[in-house]
Amino acid sequence: MANSNDQFFGYKGRWARIDLTHREVKVEPADAVLYRHYIGGRGVQAALLYEHLRRAGPLQDPLSPENRIIIGTGAPNDTYIPTAGRGSCSFVSPMTRSPESVSWVPGHRPLFGLVTHASAGGLFPNMLKRAGLDHLIIDGRADRPVRILAIDGKVEIVDAEDELFEIVDRKKTVRTASAITDYLSRKYPYSSTVCLGPAGWNRVAFACLTGDHHRNFGRGGAGAVFGSKNLVAITASGRDPIAYFDERLYQKLAKELDAQVKSHVGDPKWTASFRPETGTTWWLDRAHHGSYLGQKGGYLPWHNFDEGYFDPADYAKVGTDAFLAISGRHKVCNRCRYVMCTRSAKVEAGEFAGEGVRPEFETIALWINCCIIDHDAIFHMNYLCNELGIDTMTLGSVVAAAMELRDKGYLNKYNNPPAFGSAADMIRTLKSIAYQSDPLGKLLGNYSDRVIAELGAASAAADVPEIARSVTTAFGGLGYAGIEPKVFPGMFTAYGTSNRGRGDHTYAWTIQAEEGGLTGAGNLAAYVAGGQVGKALVDSMGLCDFFTEDNTSDPFLSLYHALTGFEYTGDSMKEAGKRIYNLERHMNNLQGRNRAYDAYVPPKLTVPLTAGAHKGKAVDTAFYQSILDAYYEHQGWNKEGIVGSMLLHSLGIRD
Ligand code: SF4
Repeated sequence: MANSNDQFFGYKGRWARIDLTHREVKVEPADAVLYRHYIGGRGVQAALLYEHLRRAGPLQDPLSPENRIIIGTGAPNDTYIPTAGRGSCSFVSPMTRSPESVSWVPGHRPLFGLVTHASAGGLFPNMLKRAGLDHLIIDGRADRPVRILAIDGKVEIVDAEDELFEIVDRKKTVRTASAITDYLSRKYPYSSTVCLGPAGWNRVAFACLTGDHHRNFGRGGAGAVFGSKNLVAITASGRDPIAYFDERLYQKLAKELDAQVKSHVGDPKWTASFRPETGTTWWLDRAHHGSYLGQKGGYLPWHNFDEGYFDPADYAKVGTDAFLAISGRHKVCNRCRYVMCTRSAKVEAGEFAGEGVRPEFETIALWINCCIIDHDAIFHMNYLCNELGIDTMTLGSVVAAAMELRDKGYLNKYNNPPAFGSAADMIRTLKSIAYQSDPLGKLLGNYSDRVIAELGAASAAADVPEIARSVTTAFGGLGYAGIEPKVFPGMFTAYGTSNRGRGDHTYAWTIQAEEGGLTGAGNLAAYVAGGQVGKALVDSMGLCDFFTEDNTSDPFLSLYHALTGFEYTGDSMKEAGKRIYNLERHMNNLQGRNRAYDAYVPPKLTVPLTAGAHKGKAVDTAFYQSILDAYYEHQGWNKEGIVGSMLLHSLGIRD
C-alpha cells in the first residue's frame, strides 16, 4: 500500500489554517510529501514557517501579526511507543533578537528573532491528535481576545469569556494558567488546554505557553506571540483513533521496543535508570561534586555564571536529596512509561507551603545561579512560573543579570532591584515582570538588548560594555542552561550554534562524552552537529529527549514503517534530520544570523573559575573559533555560517 494525500497512516493527514485577523479557519488535507521529507512535528513546522517567511521576507517584529505560530505532533504521538506524548510549537522568537546596532559586539548585524521550536509533553499534544489534526497553523491578530477550539476535527475561533480575565493593578489581564485551564476543562469535559498566562498576555519576551497546568512550551517566548495575537488558549478534544499501515506488525514491534526501553531504564549502568526516582535533578549532584556516574563536578553555575562550585553546606539545601525529600507520586506525560521523570511535590509548611510538581534540573540550577539556596522557595517560584506563564530558565538568567547590575549600581533608579541570594526579591521581581507592574518589571520583560540599551541610555557611554557584560543573554541570547559554560568547550559549541538560540542545551548535549574524554576541535564539532540532527528527528517524531533508543536503527525504522508506510534507511532518516536542521538555519540566516552571532562569547565567560574541580577554566575564545571553523566545515556551510544554495538544493530546499 502506498501513501498518498488520501491515505495517511500514523498521522491524521489534516491541518488547520487559522487566520485570526479575518476570523477564518480552513481544515485541509496535509501534504504527504512534506511529511515524508520533514517527518512531522518540528520538521513539518519548519517547512510551514518557511512557506510563510519565503513569501513575506524576513520578519522584523516577532510580535507583529505577521508572525506565524504552529502547534502540532508527529506520527508516533499517541501510539504505544514510550514517551510519545511530546508536541511541537514553532514561531519566530521575540527573545532572540538584536535588531538595533550595538557597539559592544564586533561584526554585529541586525538579528530580527530566530526561528524557534519549543517542545512540551503532558496530554495536550496527543489530545490535539485525537481531535483529528496534525497541526494548527495560526496567522494574524484577532481584534479582540479569542481562543481556539479543536474538537472532533472541527476548529473554531471563539471569543474569550470574561471569566478568563481579572483586574490586577487596575489593568485587565488574563487569569493564571491553572484558572484558565480549570475553567475550560469544566466547560469541555475530556479536553486538554494550552494557554498563555499573565506574562504572555503582557508580551514578556520569554513568556511560555502552559498545557495541562504544568507542561510548558517553555523557551523563546511562545506566550508573548499568543499575547500579540490576542489569543488566550487552545482547547482540544476528540477520540479519533490512529490508523496504522500494518497494525499487527506495529503491535508486535512496539512490544519489542517497549521491552528494550524497560530493560535500559532498569540498567543501573545507564543514566536513564535515575530518572524515575530523581527526574532530572540527579544532574544537580553530578554537576556540583560528581556522583550519578559522573566525575568531579564543579560545573553547577553560581553567581551569574562566575563560578561552577560553591560551599557544599549551602549546596546540600538545594541538591538532589533536598528535592527528593519533597517529591511525591509520578506525574508523567501521556504515553510515558518507564522513564517517567516527573513527580509531584509538596511543601508541608511555612511561607512556601503548597502542592505542585518537582522543578527540573535546569530550573533549579539557574536559580542556584542567582544564589538562591532555599528548596522550598525554588519549589514555590516554579509553581509561580507555571501559573504566570514564564520560562523558568530565561527568567533565571535575566534575574541573575539584574542581581549583578544591582551590585554594580546600574539599577539605582529602580525600587527594590533583586539581590543575589534573596528569594523574596526574586519572587517580587518575577511577579513584576509577569504583570508588568512596575518600571523594573517593564525593563526586565524585554529582550536583553533592549534592557542594555535602556540602561545604557541612562549611563555614560563608557558604562555600556560593563552593562552588557553582566547580561549573559546579550546579543539575542536565549540564556545559558544549567551547565557552567566555561567548563566544556563542546557544550559551549552546542550552546553557541543551537538553531533556537545561544544558550540552548537541548539541540546537542556533550557532557557525558566530554567527561568521557572527547576532545579536539573536529571531534567536538562533529559530535555537536550529530546531536543536532538527532534532536531534530526526536522532536519531529513527538518523542521525548529522554527516549532511550536509537530512532535511526533498523528495528525502530521497521516499526516506523509499520506505523506510517514510509520507508527510511538509517541514512535517509538522518538526511531528513539534516534537511530540518539546515532549513531552520537557512531561515535564521534570512533573519540575520551569521558567524558573529555564533561566535559571540559573553566577556564574563572568559574569566577563569576560582574554585572546584575545574578551577582555572574559562571559555578559550581562540579554541572556540577553531571549533566553529570545524563545525561549519562539517555542516557544509561557509565560513560566515551561511547555508549555501547548493547544499539547500541537494536537500530539496528551494532558496
Ligand atoms: S521522561 Fe519526563 S518529560 Fe519525557 S515523556 Fe516522560 S514524563 Fe514526559
